[in-house]
Amino acid sequence: MTEKTIFRKIIDREIPAKIVYEDDLCLAFEDINPRAPTHLIVIPKKEIRSVDDVTEQDEALVGHLFVAMGKIAAERGLSGGYRVVTNCGRDAGQEVMHLHFHMLAGRSFTWPPG
Ligand code: 5GP
Repeated sequence: MTEKTIFRKIIDREIPAKIVYEDDLCLAFEDINPRAPTHLIVIPKKEIRSVDDVTEQDEALVGHLFVAMGKIAAERGLSGGYRVVTNCGRDAGQEVMHLHFHMLAGRSFTWPPG
């Protein structure tokens, strides 16, 4: 059996996290090493390693994640704007092999990203 990822352990409540949103399909929590005043991680409960592993069966789930992010942004009043990022693979700096979206807000961001 493969070792659980950190995010799987957070879903299973084996390690603590500051959870800000949860429903049947997804979970959002504060990043442990925030890169902006607001830095949330949004994940599906289903185990998908990265964008590379998203299949047609996941279309509704991925849409659901974006609807959830919109709700979170509205609840938290992120009216100044925010950035949604997903890192896929080594060159993008993906560290945790469980599909996740970073929601970053509370400061301005440069483009292109580093
Ligand atoms: P990645 O580089 O894979 O796109 O992002 C992984 C993110 O997960 C990083 O921003 C990192 O700070 C965050 N992270 C790693 N371990 C933990 C943890 O145990 N708890 C929380 N809340 N975030 C974590």
